[in-house]
Amino acid sequence: MRVTTTLLAIALLLCTTAFATPMPQKTFPVTADIETTPVHNSGDAADDPAIWVHPTDVTKSRILGSDKQEGIEVYDLDGNRTVSYDFGKINNIDLRYGFPLGGKRVDIVGGSNRTSWEISLYTIEEGRLRNVNGAPINPKMPKMYGFSMYHSQRTDKYYALIAGKGGEFEQYELYDNGQGKIDGKLVRSMKFSSMTEGIVADDEYGFIYVAEERGSVWKFNAEPGDDTLTKIGTAWDGMLTPDIEGMTIYYTSDGGGYLIISSQGNSTYAVYDRVTNKYINSFEINKGIVDGTFDTDGIDVVSFGLGDKWPNGFFVAQDGVNTDKRFPFLFNQNFKVVSWEKIAKALNLKIDNSVNPRHLQKRGE
Ligand code: CA
Ligand code: CA
Ligand code: CA
Ligand code: CA
Ligand code: CA
Ligand code: CA
Repeated sequence: MRVTTTLLAIALLLCTTAFATPMPQKTFPVTADIETTPVHNSGDAADDPAIWVHPTDVTKSRILGSDKQEGIEVYDLDGNRTVSYDFGKINNIDLRYGFPLGGKRVDIVGGSNRTSWEISLYTIEEGRLRNVNGAPINPKMPKMYGFSMYHSQRTDKYYALIAGKGGEFEQYELYDNGQGKIDGKLVRSMKFSSMTEGIVADDEYGFIYVAEERGSVWKFNAEPGDDTLTKIGTAWDGMLTPDIEGMTIYYTSDGGGYLIISSQGNSTYAVYDRVTNKYINSFEINKGIVDGTFDTDGIDVVSFGLGDKWPNGFFVAQDGVNTDKRFPFLFNQNFKVVSWEKIAKALNLKIDNSVNPRHLQKRGE
């Protein structure tokens, strides 16, 4: 009996030592200002948002959200759904501004479409999407999953970035095929050791971040040719509780800002310095006027001022469990929106509403 107790004590001690966290997460609460209309499909359906800034009237900007069982939904800045598209089972979505197509500069939205098993591409104009795929872009991985885009400020080239359930990563250069459509060519393939979904590119510094859901977050040169990896964080490191999900970047005019990562396992969002990638603090979205977030997949943030309602931009997060205080049952999943000044105040972060994502600049080497 005594031997067993001693062994147990030693085992416990070893466990405690092995799992000791080097730096405990510091989490500050905020509450959402609004929530979007729930997505059309029940169960695990809402996944990944993207924020589109209107070219001339920022109040007509839109929040796009993927319903991974059906397609893409579009919401106005009050969270009301304006239109939805049954484009297929699009898991993650992203967008970029000013793509050269047919002699014009257009805004484009892309997604990992698991119905057609291709990268789906659309133009977005006045909040409406139109398919512009030329030859199908079929990733070489058996199960495509994460998706993001990169617009190089060095070469003005546009790329689609796709990740697979087997840790695959592929980068496709997108180009006008001469017939008003967009084609893509594979320019880089990489392989991580486990399942990858979250991807984000820092267009100004020219970096891509990729997250293994139960592994590490990696940073590398967004220009194809240099695959050197730098580790930013790891699952169970005290800041990130797996799954590690969506990632997004807050830009400031002095080249600073933040990398934000969804730590799905404890429903928090970890904030890192954009340049040094040092961990700062975390936040969680608690119940306020609307319910809080739980088990978040994708996130996005915009620092640019979007009119009187959102003078300092906002952060948007998928909510895995959407409830309502008036009714004791679940609604379909949706997206929660938090004004940036709330997050900035809670975590003592910068507020800079002057970087228009349509006009970025080259920074770094
Ligand atoms: Ca989910
Ligand atoms: Ca996204
Ligand atoms: Ca995931
Ligand atoms: Ca996801
Ligand atoms: Ca919720
Ligand atoms: Ca709700």
